[in-house]
Amino acid sequence: MTQFVLPPRPPVAAPVAGTPARFPVRRVLCVGRNYAAHRREMGGDDREPPFFFAKPADAVVAADDAGDCGTVAYPSATADLHHEIELVAALGAGGQDLSPDEALKLVFGYAVGVDLTRRDLQAGFKAKGQPWDAAKGFDASAPLGVIRPAEGAPPSGRIWLSVNGQVRQDAAVADMIWSVAETIAQASRLWRLEAGDLIFTGTPEGVGPLVRGDKVEGGIDGVGALKFVIG
Ligand code: MN
Repeated sequence: MTQFVLPPRPPVAAPVAGTPARFPVRRVLCVGRNYAAHRREMGGDDREPPFFFAKPADAVVAADDAGDCGTVAYPSATADLHHEIELVAALGAGGQDLSPDEALKLVFGYAVGVDLTRRDLQAGFKAKGQPWDAAKGFDASAPLGVIRPAEGAPPSGRIWLSVNGQVRQDAAVADMIWSVAETIAQASRLWRLEAGDLIFTGTPEGVGPLVRGDKVEGGIDGVGALKFVIG
């Protein structure tokens, strides 16, 4: 057995509906600009296809079995933290260069996630052509709800997020530019996907700022809900 000079860290353990067993998070891939109305609110070009970025696996803040992520610390180095509610696909198997039909077969389940974003840093990086890592992949930047094992077609219904009880984002997952199947197929051309990978599939319009003390709730029809407080 391999000996390590430091104790290896266990993976982030995400809750799964209907079982006390946890989902081990391996990697977090995210899609940018996968809803047309959000692409427009971010000043994007309608002809520009969605694209990928990543967060470290340990950016995930796993919920408890009731979908409560507890307190999420307001991050350093920003004055404009934004919420982005997203459908997350959790992969139970791997593969590469897949067709959309093949890609969908990798999905273990779906969850509600929030892609927290340092919007001010992101705007600066965009202007300078610099990478987004510090705007997107910071500590605790990916609150994640309970994973619901997949049954049949991917979710397509309402996706919403509220702050202190006021709805900020309210759209339909069916309005995605790349479907869940297409998103995973596209990712599989860029990376060899593996069991444990999470894919955040993009946010609809209505993103906006969060401040300390805000109570954030979000949900997706047929998937579940999550909540957390900005601390
Ligand atoms: Mn996002």
